[in-house]
Order: sequence, then structure tokens, then C-alpha cells
Amino acid sequence: MEYEIVVGLEVHVQLSTASKAFCADAATYGAAPNTQVSTISMAHPGTLPRINEKVIEYAVRLGLALGCEITRDTRFDRKNYFYADLPKGFQTTQDSHPICVGGGLDIQIDGKTKHVRLHHIHLEEDAGKSIHDIDPRHSLIDLNRAGVPLLEIVTEPDLRSPEEAYEFITELRQIVRYLDISDGNMQEGSIRCDCNVSLRPMGETKLGTRCEIKNVNSMRNAKRAIAYEAKRQQGILEKGGTIDQETRSFDAQAGHTNNVLRTKENAHDYRYFPEPDLPPVVLTEEYIEQVRANMPKLPNEIQQELMTTYSLSEYDVKVLLEDKEMVDFYTQITQHTSNYKAAANWLNNVIKSYLNENNLPVNDFKISPKSIAALIQLVDDNKVSNAAASQKIFPELVKQPDTAPLQLATQLNLIQDSNEDSIEGIIDEILAKFPDKVAAYRKGKKGLLGMFMGQVMKASGGKVNPKVANQLLRDKLET
Ligand code: ADP
Ligand code: MG
Repeated sequence: MEYEIVVGLEVHVQLSTASKAFCADAATYGAAPNTQVSTISMAHPGTLPRINEKVIEYAVRLGLALGCEITRDTRFDRKNYFYADLPKGFQTTQDSHPICVGGGLDIQIDGKTKHVRLHHIHLEEDAGKSIHDIDPRHSLIDLNRAGVPLLEIVTEPDLRSPEEAYEFITELRQIVRYLDISDGNMQEGSIRCDCNVSLRPMGETKLGTRCEIKNVNSMRNAKRAIAYEAKRQQGILEKGGTIDQETRSFDAQAGHTNNVLRTKENAHDYRYFPEPDLPPVVLTEEYIEQVRANMPKLPNEIQQELMTTYSLSEYDVKVLLEDKEMVDFYTQITQHTSNYKAAANWLNNVIKSYLNENNLPVNDFKISPKSIAALIQLVDDNKVSNAAASQKIFPELVKQPDTAPLQLATQLNLIQDSNEDSIEGIIDEILAKFPDKVAAYRKGKKGLLGMFMGQVMKASGGKVNPKVANQLLRDKLET
């Protein structure tokens, strides 16, 4: 029997606010353990949480970008459970009145657009971190993360393959980065997701029993986890078994999912109840319109702009858009050159490979946009070949970003000879050396042109401008 994979995602996005969701503790990543923890993060008696206004603004931004309905009267709830890295004994979250409802996100799959509906988006806080691999006898707890704001984006079960889930997370990550509400940094755990997976016979409309894979930390792992899980479930169903609704974890090293806890029968009872210490947050029309008016531009908006302003192809723009900083760098180059296509090529090829190979973010790229524009100019002026610019000058420019490209080209002896007189001299010598080949060419063996070009390049040490040389050669051979 053929089965259809059904996936719903719960994606947690860490917001890039300076402070935590309900107190003034810093929310920055990477500080020494337990240095960003006040009595409020720990809910000591007598302390009162207060909502960080930025958190609301960021949530509304995302809700507007994804076409959600913004809840005018949004509230917080307590989700009670006991765990060592949850100092309060409950997580402040939203259950009954999430800040955004409905909406959706378009993904591109096999060249087609697919709309993935959202169920809702709610605000919550992160828990602390338990560290089990430093001390052989004890688990260590770092509470810096406790209270850091998260948005949980919950989809409808609309995804149909591991690839669609991958695309969804990729698109969502791009949007939160463009909206400036999260750094989207996967290594630092800024985006994590729970993947709900079930199977059903092809054509069946009722949903099958699902398993939830908790805390997957990258789109690649989400794809792997879902693919594995679908196979596992298929194996059970094909043997006539049934799926237990359970929570599983993904072992990225081994590439499989394991049952961790909670089958449906002994599911947690979180005893949700309204958080008494936080008042409802009432959002006025004016407030929402103000957030809308201050929204950063979204990728598809920028795509249109880049395509019209710089006449770039959709493909070139899409590659640029993968990284917001790339787009900024691109527009800076265009202030110094009008060869927009070349600027896109440089960024999407040479510069991108360099950054990838060295694992560098665009912001750490040392060469200025102006220097890249100067490099483009050298090629356009036929002073250096494209190959020399990308393979010889560029690597040197990385080492000496403050040196002018022209100076490097001169130092490296790469300036091409475009002077017709001197090129003609070389050509004449070559033609004199191969009189029989010249005769053969004139009798119709046009394929010999390549041989002559090779000789000219060799005689000049590769420094004549090939375009000019090629034209001159033809002129001479054809007369
Ligand atoms: P919970 O809050 O208990 O995790 P929800 O019913 O709110 O459960 O669903 C959470 C996620 O699971 C949503 O993304 C939803 O789309 C997805 N989901 C629900 N049922 C299924 C199913 N049968 N197969 C796949 N995904 C599902
Ligand atoms: Mg869930």
C-alpha cells in the first residue's frame, strides 16, 4: 500500500531582544553560566514579571508578515511542570489567547508555490539549559536562557514530505531575519522545531496517529528526522501494527528517532491556568498600524525592487536574498558601478564561495564594496581578464583589503595588453612562423584559429587581451 506523509511543525524562534521576556536580565547568547539571572527570572516570592514591549512588537510584526489575525486582547498562561532547568516550576506561555491566529506561509516546491496554513503563533519563554556532559556525576544547570522570549509558530498539518518541512523552516528563517526579530542562528539554537509526523493510506482524508519529534535543531535534521520517522511508521503499518502516539527525539549522529517519554495514556497534565501576575495585553488599532508602518521590507518585496531597479534575473536575486547582508552589500556595490549584473555575479560566485569556504558571515568580509566595484571596472576596461580578477587579484585583495585593485593588478603583472600595435607585432611573428598553417586556414581549415590564438597567448605570456587578439588574428588571416 502507498502511504502519504503528513507533517505539522511547531517552530520555536528565539527573539533577538536585548532583555528577557518578563524582566530586564540580558538575553544575549554565550555569557558565562548563570550571570544573567535575577530573582524575577527565578520567580522568587514577592517579585513581579513585566512584559517586555519589544516582544509584543516582534510578535505583531511576524503576525502581520504572515497574514495572521492579531489578537486584540492577548493573555498569558502558566504551564506547570517540574524540571530542574525550569526554576519557576512553570513556563509562562500562551494557551487560550495566543497573540496571532491563522495566516500562512508560501513555500516553493518543485517550481510550484504551496500555501502552508498556520494554526496560530504564541509567545512563551525559554527554559534554562541542563548540561550532562561536563561533570561525570552531576548535571549542571545554566539559567541564562530561562526567560528568553520565544515565538512558537504552529502549522496546520499541511506539509506532505520531509522536503516541504525543510523549505518551510528555511522560508520562515529568512522572514524572521528580514523582519529583524531573530538572528535565526541555528548553531546557537535560535530556531528549533518539533516535527509531528503521521502516515495515512494515499487518498484517505482522515489523519493518522502522529508521533512528535522534539527539539530538532536544523532544517537538515528536520528533513532527516521526518524521513526516518515516516519509514519507521511505514514498517509498523505494513506489518499490520498500529502507531502509538508518542514523543520521540532525533539522534542526529545515528540518524534515527527514539521514544523518549509520554505515550498518550500517561500524557502530561500541565494544569494550564491564567498567569495572575501579568495583565492581558490590549493592542489598539493605532498600535498595530504603527507596527505595520515600521515593518522592515520582506524578501519578496526586495526581490521585486532588485529585479526592476537593476534588471537582475529572478535566479540572481533569489541567490542574493538568501542572506540579508548580501543584499545590503550588493546595493552598496551598485553605488560605485553601473555593471549591476557583474556585481551580482561577483557576490553570488566568487565572494559567496570564499565566505562559505572560510565559514565567514558577510559582515566579516574585509573587502569594501568600492574595491569590488573597482575590480569590476578593471575587467570592463579590458585591463585584466575576468579569470585574473577572480583567481589572482581577488585572493590577494582578501589579504590586503586596503590596497587598490589596480595597484595589485600591476604588482602581480596582470595588466592585459590591449594595445593593437604591440599585439599585431606578436601576431605577425606567429603567422610568419607557420606559413603552411596560414595557407591551410585560408583554404578553409577555420579550426586552426584556436591554435593561432594559443600561440599568441603563449608568446605574450598570457597578457594580451584575448578579445582584441582574436579580432586582429581573424582580420589578418582573412585578408
Ligand atoms: P499539541 O499541542 O498537543 O502538540 P496540536 O494538536 O496542537 O498538539 O498539534 C501540534 C502540531 O501537530 C500542529 O503543527 C499540527 O499541525 C500537528 N498535527 C496534529 N495532528 C497531526 C497528525 N495526525 N499528523 C501530523 N501532524 C499533526
Ligand atoms: Mg506540541
